[in-house]
Amino acid sequence: MNENEILRKISTNLTERKNSAALSNYEVLCNNIKFVNDLFKFVVHSFHGLQFSFKESLREDSLLNNEYKNTSDLHPFISIVPRIISNGLAVADKFTLYTEPDDRSGITTENIALLRRGFLEYNHLVTATRQYIDSIVSDSYQLCLLEPKSFNYHVLISLNSFDKYATKSLSQALFNEEIRDCLDEFGKLRFRDWKRSAITECSHTTFGKKIDFLFSVLGIASPTSLAEEMKDLFKFSSEFTHIGYVSTFFSSSSGAEVIFGDDIGPYLPSTENFGELKYEILETIFKSFIKVYLPSVVKCIEKLLCEDEAKKYATEILKLINQLNDKLKTRNSQYYFFVKSGLIGSRKTIELKCMCGVGRNWKPLHEKSELFCTGCGSSFNILEVEGDGGYIITSNGPAKIIGADVPDFEDLPKEKQIEMLKQIEALNKEKFGN
Ligand SMILES: [Zn+2]
Repeated sequence: MNENEILRKISTNLTERKNSAALSNYEVLCNNIKFVNDLFKFVVHSFHGLQFSFKESLREDSLLNNEYKNTSDLHPFISIVPRIISNGLAVADKFTLYTEPDDRSGITTENIALLRRGFLEYNHLVTATRQYIDSIVSDSYQLCLLEPKSFNYHVLISLNSFDKYATKSLSQALFNEEIRDCLDEFGKLRFRDWKRSAITECSHTTFGKKIDFLFSVLGIASPTSLAEEMKDLFKFSSEFTHIGYVSTFFSSSSGAEVIFGDDIGPYLPSTENFGELKYEILETIFKSFIKVYLPSVVKCIEKLLCEDEAKKYATEILKLINQLNDKLKTRNSQYYFFVKSGLIGSRKTIELKCMCGVGRNWKPLHEKSELFCTGCGSSFNILEVEGDGGYIITSNGPAKIIGADVPDFEDLPKEKQIEMLKQIEALNKEKFGN
């Protein structure tokens, strides 16, 4: 292709927006968004509490490791670290605000325009994302390093830019004589020396390089797709934040939309498209938070505090990470149901109860397309079981075969349950000899 052909293709495809299609189940999306958004609010809240007691521990000089005690050169980090953490929490609060699930109450075909998602909504969501992914990575980077020159670089660059345009009142509030002296010192450096000078250093200049550094010091098993996912989200969100041509075209051109509907009410393709992006972002940010940010905080705590004190916090944070990991795995998962042979295709409604608590009444004709959970997006796999057995042994213990004429395992009297578990144990011994 030559330059004119490319230009022609751009002009025919990227100036008039085509209709978008809704590809996911909107109800599932909203439920999953709510689940992860709530989980994120919970973790931010727990973390607020944790950092409060951490700050108290830092006040006790006797609990600090030698390099960070009162008289040592690295002691300033004792006040800097809690500030980095509370700055991060402020950005996290903003992020949770822009990733709330859609409110569909009172939406009718008359006011459906309230659910239309365009340039403004995309811009808010993706800019909040860009700010937060940036904050997770640069904070994790500083927390892992705790290195004076690198931290100076980070703050002096920021001060230098702020100073360029700040009004008198803003400057007065921030720039006292000591800070002015620091800026003057920084002003003496040539631009090309900023990254490596007597007072500043930046060895990992880009977002990507910081990610690679973090994954290596935190020992996150490599190759891992999360590193690439974070880099991709950073590029994608930068394109929006910098008002790239494609993202602006995509989110600002609004044509007439067809109205879709489900059990809850009407919605638009743009609502669903936006929800899909929101969920994907929530998932990536959530994973970044538990796999990169929290472990960086642990690393930092281990540097600052003596072993016994650090262990207290590390154990608590690791417990939180495991809890969150398990909860996230329940979304869009795969579950298996055992159904008595002959039930599928009969006139009976089959009750399928998902792990998340939401049930589905699978009505005749038992369409395969209905085999998913509207609560969490998990897909259901059905295994038909021949014979008259009442229970089947799964990795989670005995489960009732749906359609069998027996009570649920949990509803059996305790003695019966124990008896059955003993039988299983005996069978296992016979079979595997342990
Ligand atoms: Zn479910």
